[in-house]
Amino acid sequence: MNSRRDFLQKIGVSALALHLAPLAGWANNTTNNEKTYDGKVLRVAIMGLGSYGTRVAEAMQSCTKAKLVGVISGTPSKVKAWQSKYGIPEKNCYNYENFDNIKNNPDIDAVYVITPNGLHHDQVIRVAKAGKHAISEKPMSVNAQQGQEMVDACKKAGVKLLVGYRMHFEPKTLEVIRMRQAGEFGKIMFFQGQCGFTIGDPTQWRLNKQLAGGGAMMDIGIYAINGSRYMTGEEPIWVTAQETKTDHEKFKEGVDETIQFQFGFPSGAVASCLSTYNMNNLDRFFLDGDKGFAELQPSTGYGPIQGRTHKGELTQPITTHQTVQMDEFAGIIFDNKKPVVPVDGEEAVKDLKIIDAIYQAVKTGKKVDIKLS
Ligand code: NAD
Repeated sequence: MNSRRDFLQKIGVSALALHLAPLAGWANNTTNNEKTYDGKVLRVAIMGLGSYGTRVAEAMQSCTKAKLVGVISGTPSKVKAWQSKYGIPEKNCYNYENFDNIKNNPDIDAVYVITPNGLHHDQVIRVAKAGKHAISEKPMSVNAQQGQEMVDACKKAGVKLLVGYRMHFEPKTLEVIRMRQAGEFGKIMFFQGQCGFTIGDPTQWRLNKQLAGGGAMMDIGIYAINGSRYMTGEEPIWVTAQETKTDHEKFKEGVDETIQFQFGFPSGAVASCLSTYNMNNLDRFFLDGDKGFAELQPSTGYGPIQGRTHKGELTQPITTHQTVQMDEFAGIIFDNKKPVVPVDGEEAVKDLKIIDAIYQAVKTGKKVDIKLS
């Protein structure tokens, strides 16, 4: 194992980072810079200045339609560092106790919640009550009931709720979706999603049931769940699932290490997926139809995504996912723009219902029906 990977695993960064090309390198490849943009800019405050929050902040420097203007953090030293790095004024800085006051701040449109999963529910509801649009990281919460409460709270407050599904804007992913919609793969028969990495530090929040809501499924398995839906274009109607746990000390009760799960779709197509915190080199989607196939590997890492179909290599441009996502979010929030694959709270509740069903299938050993509407 190389030292970079050692380091990332020690600090608890997901394996997605392992596919990372240097950020500066990607910036040159970013394609969505529309230099003439003079429309409304989405002014965003980031809550949770951790590893992914930092990545989003860096990527937002290349946005044209969104701008980082505020922070919410419990660590004053981080706030100071971000203020000087990104030119954030004192009046746009909050902590976890006082951020409800953001309701009185006309210079912030949206709050991007990038904290541990188990905190998203309460924090997003507070953001909604403060009258600001809410962006939540995935998983949106730790079960479908909480997710629905978040959707309801945002609806009641008249604000939008979006989720950081960055793959929904990724060019090679979108090309596979376009080809599938155009019938180029024929009748879809099978999807395979493999998502995992070997997690490090046993004391990190990702291995704490209260903060993570579960284990690998919440963090990385969700990519296979969401991917199985946008790759096949169908919603699963049943699931079977099996859990394997080799380390009961590290992966305590309620924190899954490895789960294999299978879906059935209305058309008769099936999916076979793996979610794990105990294996590396797993970031692959495979879609099979009776006229062709698509393979993405890496399929959900930060980039570059690579893939091929029965017609050859996919050559769509490499983008910085978080830059494109935030620019697209501005269009969705201000102009009701409709993305190819939804990124709203309802979309996230579907993933959470499926996660609930997977955990139930593991617990009961039975095939569980899934009802998403
Ligand atoms: P992290 O541990 O690096 O950062 C979490 C931040 O939350 C830290 O700044 C920490 O101080 C803060 N925090 C606030 N209250 C806390 C508490 N009670 N306990 C622990 N930390 C607390 O984690 P991360 O990797 O940045 O993940 C944050 C969220 O972003 C998670 O929901 C994760 O699933 C998501 N994420 C998404 C992607 C993606 O590609 N979309 C990638 C990584 C992480």
